[in-house]
Amino acid sequence: MAFFFIIGMKFIAWGSERMPGTMRCGDCGTVAQFIRKSGMRFLTLFFVIPVLPLSGVKSLAECPTCGARYDAST
Ligand SMILES: [Zn+2]
Repeated sequence: MAFFFIIGMKFIAWGSERMPGTMRCGDCGTVAQFIRKSGMRFLTLFFVIPVLPLSGVKSLAECPTCGARYDAST
């Protein structure tokens, strides 16, 4: 009998609050109010089921145009 488990890593982010000021995206060059998000890296099973958090909660800023994410922890 054999079991196959597909273990992966997934970064799960949530939140949609606007940043108070504008930032310039290094990826697409847009100057806009970025979206503040919180995220955590999880160990996942079959790519979808988060089973174990691998990091603490991180603060991110996401570009509203291209979706590039930047570390926003202070
Ligand atoms: Zn961008």
